[in-house]
Amino acid sequence: MQSLIIESNQANCRLLDNILGQQGFDSDICGNIDTARSYIDSENYDIICINHQLKDGESSEFVEYCNSHPRNRNTPILYLTDIQTPETQLKSLRIDKFINMQNKQRIADQIIHFVESRLDPVFSEGRILFIEDSKTVAAVILSQLKNTGYQVEHYRSAEDAWAAFENEAAYGSDSKAFDLVITDITLAGNMSGHELAEKIRALDGARGFIPIIAVTGDTSDELRLSLYQSGVNDFIQKPILSGELLVRIRNLITTKRLLDKVHDQRRELFALATTDKLTGCQNRHSLMEFSGKFFALSSRQRYPISMLVIDLDHFKAINDTHGHATGDLVLSSVGNLLNQFFRKGDLVARFGGEEFVVLMSHCDQPLAQTKAEKLRQAIEDLQPDGIKITASIGFTSRQADQSGEFDVLFSSADKGVYTAKENGRNCLVYIPIEA
Ligand code: GH3
Ligand code: MG
Ligand code: MG
Ligand code: MG
Repeated sequence: MQSLIIESNQANCRLLDNILGQQGFDSDICGNIDTARSYIDSENYDIICINHQLKDGESSEFVEYCNSHPRNRNTPILYLTDIQTPETQLKSLRIDKFINMQNKQRIADQIIHFVESRLDPVFSEGRILFIEDSKTVAAVILSQLKNTGYQVEHYRSAEDAWAAFENEAAYGSDSKAFDLVITDITLAGNMSGHELAEKIRALDGARGFIPIIAVTGDTSDELRLSLYQSGVNDFIQKPILSGELLVRIRNLITTKRLLDKVHDQRRELFALATTDKLTGCQNRHSLMEFSGKFFALSSRQRYPISMLVIDLDHFKAINDTHGHATGDLVLSSVGNLLNQFFRKGDLVARFGGEEFVVLMSHCDQPLAQTKAEKLRQAIEDLQPDGIKITASIGFTSRQADQSGEFDVLFSSADKGVYTAKENGRNCLVYIPIEA
């Protein structure tokens, strides 16, 4: 980062150069306003330090000059004062901080605090997708971003950047995911920065919420409005002011990471509220909550569904013989088996104690029969902790043209379990639904 020090006292110059140097700044130093003007005209600075008392002119006028300068109007200004400096008279100027040069002990602290709070990005480990077709602009921004510690992937066209973004496996709070997109608007290739922003915003999930900064030379109200409408969060004007860009990047990445955290916590809370801890299956509450949707979808799309009720045989004897902890282990092994055994769209729930309910979509009676028999065998083969276990399974099916929701199916499948117990356990019984 670049700093400009305008100070006639050599000792002060060395001190400031030293302090700023340790904060990663490269300083240009001059002792008069005339030279300072030529520096300002040809360089973009990240910070300007100017002494109140200079021999060849009014420092306040120079601050005014900086404040309205096309290159440096947003550059933070540290105004170096002594006790006599009339700070109130300088109120109309945009001065970011007054530093009293007579209080030598505090100078370093004040400058470091200012730099850290205003300029130093908190998340310098962020990953940025950067799209810019101008080699010169790209080189300037790339070097600034990389100096600050960001990982940057640079593309010259939106098509290439989109391909890279779309195919990324990591997103959201994944530490390898992109944290921010910085894009030029007019680009080499057919896709503009505008279109890229729109395509990103159309994506589902956390990926579609990534913050986007647009970089543009045009500052018309219409363009700004249309950029915001495309989903751009912020825009930055060319020529790019590095200090400002870094602060905006930091703010957006901080917000993005906070949102990722909230998103993760919501997912965790949802999982906690819907999952049975011991078995990893859905809990009964969640089964009742989601079965409504399950039935509605199968009615709308007219496909058959089946329900299994699975009850472990003589489970009380397992507890009595091996202890409750072993009983728990058996339940958790069965839960694990069930979760692996059924398809992703099926609902697998622990209904209570040692009883499970499974809802299978696109599954008619013959298929349910096959699945239930395979499951019965798998439970018999499981032998968790070397213990032989079996289950009785009642099941029922609803054809595409039939109606009846949870209670109707459950009533039949539960009767099936009853009959299976009567028939000697470790077997299946199908009971049709009562239409
Ligand atoms: P049946 O073959 O007729 O189903 O006999 P059963 O012993 O399996 O049925 P019963 O309903 O008499 O007993 C179920 C037992 O399951 C009683 C209860 O203590 C036990 N149980 C319920 N929940 C848990 C649990 O979370 N952990 C353990 N270890 N045991 C549980
Ligand atoms: Mg361009
Ligand atoms: Mg039982
Ligand atoms: Mg039972």
